[in-house]
Amino acid sequence: MAAADFETPELQEYTVVPKLEEGTMAHSSPYIAKEKLQTPLGYPGELVDNWEEKVITKMDDLRGKYRGFQVFLDSCVKCGACTDKCHYYLGTKDPKNMPVARQDLLRQVYRRYSTFAGKFFGALGIPGFVGAADLNKEVLDDWYSYFHQCSQCRRCSVYCPYGIDTAEISMAAREIMDTVGLGQKYCNEIIGKAQTIGNNLGLPEAALIDTLEGLEEEVEEDTGVAVKFPIDQKGADILLVTPSADFFAEPHVDGLIGYAKVFHEAGASWTMSSHASEAANFGMFIGSYENMQKLSLRVRKAALDLGVKRIVFGECGHAWRVAYSFLHTLAGPFDFLDQNYPIPQHICEYTHDLIEKDELKFDKSENDHMTLTFHDSCNVARASRMGDKPGGQMDIPRAVIKAVCNNYVDMPVETIGEATFCCGGGGGLLTDDLMEVRVKGAQPRMEAYKSVVDNSGVTNLAAICAICKAQFTKILPAYGFGMTDIVSVHQLVSEAIILTGSDDDTSEDSDTNESE
Ligand code: SF4
Ligand code: SF4
Repeated sequence: MAAADFETPELQEYTVVPKLEEGTMAHSSPYIAKEKLQTPLGYPGELVDNWEEKVITKMDDLRGKYRGFQVFLDSCVKCGACTDKCHYYLGTKDPKNMPVARQDLLRQVYRRYSTFAGKFFGALGIPGFVGAADLNKEVLDDWYSYFHQCSQCRRCSVYCPYGIDTAEISMAAREIMDTVGLGQKYCNEIIGKAQTIGNNLGLPEAALIDTLEGLEEEVEEDTGVAVKFPIDQKGADILLVTPSADFFAEPHVDGLIGYAKVFHEAGASWTMSSHASEAANFGMFIGSYENMQKLSLRVRKAALDLGVKRIVFGECGHAWRVAYSFLHTLAGPFDFLDQNYPIPQHICEYTHDLIEKDELKFDKSENDHMTLTFHDSCNVARASRMGDKPGGQMDIPRAVIKAVCNNYVDMPVETIGEATFCCGGGGGLLTDDLMEVRVKGAQPRMEAYKSVVDNSGVTNLAAICAICKAQFTKILPAYGFGMTDIVSVHQLVSEAIILTGSDDDTSEDSDTNESE
């Protein structure tokens, strides 16, 4: 790894629960947002004078608003089942990265100021007697550090007998910190851009149009077929909302090319929107309902302005969680859309439906130079659904991959599906100032990947999340793998799909979409 101030962990054959190393990640904190990033989101520009009081007030407010948050604060029995389930603990050895310990950073303050026992023993000067602690700058610094070492992946909640979701506590902690003027630069800068320009990258409409025209030329040169990448087309049937990374980053853009080819081959009338040119919604990462809603309302406005009948989301993990789980609450009702289709629909569901109906032709041998495995993105696997059957969010992407590739192997079962390990860069951690925790937190996923590379000849890792893809392009080389091992699922579709009228369309014995 290029960064000199930490060492990339050595990969083990199996993930090993490490011995504790107290405070080993206490130094890791993201850059703090300055006033110009805070105030547009409705937060103070810097840490307010009476922050201790405001922290308690905000915590009380959130406990009243979100029942789950209150239950999670009260119901932990310290059984320990979650302790070895977090990839950041496994990769960093820091005990404060154990989910129960991360929760307790906040819970100890809740106990001190909002429970009888905490108030009583706190007044006696022994709050620790009941697991409570005084709120001071040291505690706040710990919050800022360790609640930014949680990717809100929800893996720990799967193993908790009470279903306690550390992600919810981490989101609440970040919202409380924002409220007292202690926000994270990376997330808040991105939210500001998405709210004012329409996408996380701050790409203006002209740049988007230019990029999409370039893609049209590239695909036509490559295939001989005029595949369109329409934007702001009024009266189109389908609005595609996709992460802005799809417009230019690798391997994301290859996925966008895949979506366009599928729409083309299906004869669909579709468009993107310059107003809602971002599927990602970082409002969720900072736990802010209001900021999440502002971004979601852009999608609603784009759908209404363009007069579409359907909304399809591109490959992005947390965007799909927001879309699937919260879009109706944040920006509904969507009674103006065609109710015969899922609202919204995932691009994998869209492609999978066409495959099931035998409406797409593929030459799977185009992907024969690869043996694929699939990384389940946390927010898709543990916080959403696809299709109409339980587990569809795991099965449908795999079915798409198997329809377009001959060689596929799953990683060990304890590291996929509902038990999937985070890429290490989710939840607002995909920033260079958190590179150490990103690299170390990726260790369990890299160990699972290595096992299928070594034992099954796997060459590539496919994903349906913009953050996972960006994280893996950095993390794979840190662990000795190739940067281009990571591929988009619709990149695989793009390679194999036979476009009507293309040179490849002449073959009479092309594979169709048989499932394996
Ligand atoms: S939500 Fe994920 S990152 Fe956060 S504590 Fe749980 S396992 Fe760790
Ligand atoms: S598994 Fe649940 S109840 Fe047990 S220690 Fe962890 S958070 Fe607490």
